[in-house]
Amino acid sequence: MITNFNDLKGKVCVMTGGAGVIGATLARGLAAAGIKTAIVDINEEAATTLAADIEKEFGVKTIGVMANVLEKESLEAAKAKINAELGKIELLINGAGGNSPKATTVVEQMTEDDKNDLDKTFYGLSMDGFEKVYNLNFKGTLLPTMVFTGDMLESGKGAIMNISSMNSYRPLTKIPAYSAAKASINNLTQWLAVHFAKIGIRCNAIAPGFFLTNQNRFLLMNQDGTPTPRTANILHGTPMGKFGEPEDLVGATLYLLSDISSFVTGIVIPIDGGFSAFSGV
Ligand code: NAD
Repeated sequence: MITNFNDLKGKVCVMTGGAGVIGATLARGLAAAGIKTAIVDINEEAATTLAADIEKEFGVKTIGVMANVLEKESLEAAKAKINAELGKIELLINGAGGNSPKATTVVEQMTEDDKNDLDKTFYGLSMDGFEKVYNLNFKGTLLPTMVFTGDMLESGKGAIMNISSMNSYRPLTKIPAYSAAKASINNLTQWLAVHFAKIGIRCNAIAPGFFLTNQNRFLLMNQDGTPTPRTANILHGTPMGKFGEPEDLVGATLYLLSDISSFVTGIVIPIDGGFSAFSGV
């Protein structure tokens, strides 16, 4: 019977988007559990600096590798480097993702007045911005899964964790591309879980609630550092009354990667301070 995360010690994990705010904390959690991690990010400098810091702090081999999750060749080159430096990949966290002002409406709900200023509404969304956000979150999970699970196929064992979001269950106002992409992530998580179930690869996801990071700062904080009205709504809708801290995601991550959850596949765990449980009343 497994009652701890010791099976993770010495395993090799790839984490995309690993140099971001959430990724950096997860990478520290992985190192604390003895996992050798490749922090894969489009920002090479951030990934290599973080990896060096983590290796120094925890004494566990950690590397930073540049790759664009939207380009298969770039991912394949990263995989070759990871195999050479760390060994066969057994765990994958698909963490690259995010939102953009270009895929965001100005108004939350349309009013009669907005009919005279459609740019602020759904009709003003740039297709280019919409596609970029949708692709980063959805295709940016699909392609790395194709590339980085190759070693798991050979060994007949592996675990994938995708990073979804609260808006995958019910879309948040203003951000339809991000919401649609994260809903697609939940669907893909279930699809992959079924597809891989008989060959030993599990696929699950976490759905974080609200964490203040680089990709959502423009929605949550004014330029002068004061909170936007959206922040007040979020905190009102979160029964615990606060933003999450990236550390809050580490426990569920280790659980989903470890053999302690060996019969768990196709689930999405909300980590949201109660947001998804609260009706608002
Ligand atoms: P972040 O912006 O701090 O980190 C995202 C990282 O992804 C960055 O290091 C960035 O360089 C990297 N990246 C961007 N495009 C890339 C590409 N094409 N190829 C490779 N790497 C790329 O954001 P974060 O908040 O830490 O987000 C991490 C994940 O958590 C994302 O999937 C995000 O959607 C999800 N999430 C965040 C929140 C939140 O409240 N912050 C809530 C739910 C889900």
